[in-house]
Amino acid sequence: MAATIEARNLWDRIGELLFANSLDPTVSNFDICRRYVLGADDALVRSVDQAIARHGGLTRTAVAGLVALHSRAIATDEIIRFAQEARQKAEEAATAMGDAQDGTRRFADALEAGASTLATGQGPELVIADLLAETRLMTERAWAAEDKIRKASEEIQGLRAKLAEASLTANSDPLTGLPNRRALEARLRNAFDAAKDERVTFSLAICDIDNFKRINDTHGHPIGDQVIKLIASSLSRVGSDSLFVARYGGEEFVVVFDGNEPDEAMSRLDTIRADVAARQVTLRQTGETLGRVTFSSGISGMRGRRDVSAMLKAADEALYRAKNEGRNRICLAD
Ligand code: GH3
Ligand code: MG
Ligand code: MG
Repeated sequence: MAATIEARNLWDRIGELLFANSLDPTVSNFDICRRYVLGADDALVRSVDQAIARHGGLTRTAVAGLVALHSRAIATDEIIRFAQEARQKAEEAATAMGDAQDGTRRFADALEAGASTLATGQGPELVIADLLAETRLMTERAWAAEDKIRKASEEIQGLRAKLAEASLTANSDPLTGLPNRRALEARLRNAFDAAKDERVTFSLAICDIDNFKRINDTHGHPIGDQVIKLIASSLSRVGSDSLFVARYGGEEFVVVFDGNEPDEAMSRLDTIRADVAARQVTLRQTGETLGRVTFSSGISGMRGRRDVSAMLKAADEALYRAKNEGRNRICLAD
């Protein structure tokens, strides 16, 4: 892999050097650029750097001077090896970029044909000219394809962000930030099916704030909203991976207890209920005291119930009982 990457970089850099300086694809130019990119010949690298510094690039005259200064027999076997490595690059590029595929295949074929001609010692100038023409085409296609891939991936990122935002809006309650009823229903359906399939269990609780109308009437609707937020955060603060809290409607919440039978859910929720009931609620902004805010709850489990609606109905009946028995308490469904 490393060798392929090296060959790829080498090929790109030679191509860049030739094209950026509008050098003719001759064997000598190719050889100078290749040796410069390889960097093994210090004297040549220095001369090229000096030529670039002096002329702002590799002009034809500068390269002609370099060729005269650093001419040597061009090792065809080196070029063949390089061509083979470059073929690997072409194949990789072909798989990575659909649009550039045809070009890279043609390039790879030209490389192979060129390499065999070189091996027989026939017309290296022409072969390399062909290879470079193919390289120019392939590089341009690869750049265009890269550009397309980059733009497409930017668009995908943008769409993904929009989708995530839309899904958040569709599934969460703006006042409390909790999952809304829609998200809850989906969660409950999944929980019911998964629990049935995997022979595990779960329970749910409907929680309703006690005498909430009185809070609204005494302190106003905006303060009522603050109380809803307070209970929402009390319920979710004790949450864990196995506890899902959603706003069911108005001042009602549903808590899902994965893996818990109703009596286990009851003891977990009762800790939260007692904590909430023990606090004196004071409004931070005004210092106004609301006294104690409590909630009641009804809990049901899966056992003997054929779907989520049956579970919700049973929990609602248990909640009704909790209210009738004096509020600030939890009742289990029959
Ligand atoms: P109970 O103990 O029997 O539950 O008595 P309650 O007064 O809480 O009665 P109920 O649950 O029926 O009252 C719900 C009230 O909640 C009625 C409605 O005006 C109010 N409400 C519903 N949604 C909101 C909301 O988003 N913000 C505020 N401030 N009030 C809301
Ligand atoms: Mg209610
Ligand atoms: Mg209520």
